[in-house]
Amino acid sequence: MPARQDNQRYLLWLGLCTLAMAVVMAVLLVLQLTQRQAIRASSETRVDSLTAMAFQFEREFLRFRQALDSTVNSASPPDADTLTLRYDIFISRLNLLRDNPSTAALLARPEYVKALPLVDQLIERTDLAFSQTPWSAPVLAGVLADFNAIGPDVQALSLAADSLVARLVEQQQNKLLSQNNQIIGLTVAQLILLLVAAVALVRRQQRQEQERLALEKLTQDLRDAKLGAESANRAKSQFLANMSHELRTPFNGILGMLGLLEDSPLNAQQADYLHTVRGSANHLMTLLNDILDVSAMEAGKLHIKAAPVNLGDLLRDVEALMRPLAKDKKLAFNMAVQTKLPPWVLNDGTRLKQILYNLLNNAIKFTAQGEVGLTVLAHTPGPDDPEGTGESGTSRDNGLDFVITDTGMGIDADGLSRLFQRFYQVDSGVTRKFGGTGLGLEISQTLANLLGGRITVRSQPGQGSSFTVYLPLTTCKAPAAAPALPVPLTPVAPNQPVINQATDATAPNRPAPRVLVVEDHPVNSKFVGVLLNRMGCETEFCEDGQQALDKVQETSFDLILMDINMPVMDGLAATRAIRAMPQAISRVPVIVLTADMTSETHTQAMAAGATDFLTKPVQIAQFRATVQPYLTNLASP
Ligand code: ADP
Repeated sequence: MPARQDNQRYLLWLGLCTLAMAVVMAVLLVLQLTQRQAIRASSETRVDSLTAMAFQFEREFLRFRQALDSTVNSASPPDADTLTLRYDIFISRLNLLRDNPSTAALLARPEYVKALPLVDQLIERTDLAFSQTPWSAPVLAGVLADFNAIGPDVQALSLAADSLVARLVEQQQNKLLSQNNQIIGLTVAQLILLLVAAVALVRRQQRQEQERLALEKLTQDLRDAKLGAESANRAKSQFLANMSHELRTPFNGILGMLGLLEDSPLNAQQADYLHTVRGSANHLMTLLNDILDVSAMEAGKLHIKAAPVNLGDLLRDVEALMRPLAKDKKLAFNMAVQTKLPPWVLNDGTRLKQILYNLLNNAIKFTAQGEVGLTVLAHTPGPDDPEGTGESGTSRDNGLDFVITDTGMGIDADGLSRLFQRFYQVDSGVTRKFGGTGLGLEISQTLANLLGGRITVRSQPGQGSSFTVYLPLTTCKAPAAAPALPVPLTPVAPNQPVINQATDATAPNRPAPRVLVVEDHPVNSKFVGVLLNRMGCETEFCEDGQQALDKVQETSFDLILMDINMPVMDGLAATRAIRAMPQAISRVPVIVLTADMTSETHTQAMAAGATDFLTKPVQIAQFRATVQPYLTNLASP
């Protein structure tokens, strides 16, 4: 039975019990009142005094008759005083009988109805006889005869009083008995009701206890299930993180070698094949990065690194990457900046680019014809915007809106409501036309939130979509002048032979800089070695931190490239150990090279004493840009 119904039934029971007990108490009260009244009435009636009065009347009647008899039958003259006294007492007893309110019931008895008029007549005759003085003996004898005549009637009065009192007492007793029975009955009823209520209470208590135990068990089960699910989820995230990390390591090798291949002489067909391989590799890298980001998000380790960003440069980078993709699909690509951009803002340029790349990639992916666009304008708070009223639509703050539009397939209302959920794809069946993981929007939204902003979307099926990235902006000073970068940042175009780039790095007649590469992965070592050789460096290799410590004590180096995750001794420990050495080598620049892109690792590396930080997969241009200044500084006199 559902608990609610059960509860209602219990309350009904309790209500009925209480009502019944209240009724029983009320009846008991009425009975007590009735009894009190009866006691009061009986005290008024004073039944015991009835018999006394009747007997006193009879006794005084007999005493007077006795005195009269003595007077009539005596030879001496009558004792008038004694007789008159006895007569007066007799009269007074009669009056007492008559005038007492409690004798009303007695006077109504037939014996009294018959005797009292006779007594009255006798009194009249006695008064008359006593009034004729001197008293005549025959008259007194006549009165005596009358008294003797009604003697039996007067005696009957006492008996009548007796029987009346007996009856009254019996009546009272019967009444008391019946009330007593009622009280006993009601008390028993009350006891039963109390018992029923107590049993109901105990049973309810037991049931509640059972329910509480069941609930506790359920809560415990749920807690266990939650812990199990969380631990399974953690294991999954850890697995994903490990897998993507493991995949990235050989992938670095592939990308690196691809870069080297692109730098070598190739015919047109080879270049085309290579271009395809590069496209697939880049796609795979994006997927791996997405999985890493989601794992980091789940572990709460997705952090942003704010640094001065030049928005103009950032937008140019985005355009440079996206325009060719749009062109490949024969889509127009429009970029417009409709507000004055501050020269430098504090932001995480890498993450902002990631958001814009992802939204523009989607715009291009889900648009078959027409155009995609990126417009940057001063932020206009919307109606449900927390930071503005939006009433007039004209109030502005110092934030920016990056609006990504397309004329593609659009998204329906159902799709819009679930758009930023993990793995959600509007077209997710087996017949889906578009690739993807369904992670991009969730990651972008999380990143936008971490940057203090958000992404909103408007879309019409069949007409296209518009994603707006709002970001609050904090302007800042230009960063401290970066070291001169003599090597161009753009990668060398494919098919263009790369010869003698080593001469860029160092001045002629200088000994080649000596670089120690500490890396346990042979392909990565090889790749970095080739890059360094091309930059005119002499390279030495070792596979863990301990070997590196041994090496730097044997020979001197101008630069160390240090991987972090290595057997025996990791790169952070090795860097700390080098910094703690007494020799000059403790001041050698150490560039940490790792596949771990999290800001925590960056902070740890810098804290360990690293001079710079490079993430894998190593991009040739970025590698050169980071490494070259250390070689150039070395080369300058
Ligand atoms: P993915 O693109 O990898 O599937 P996203 O999280 O980036 O994952 O996007 C989730 C889904 O949102 C897409 O699969 C698509 O159905 C829908 N979507 C995103 N952007 C657009 C767009 N510009 N036009 C139409 N649908 C879109």
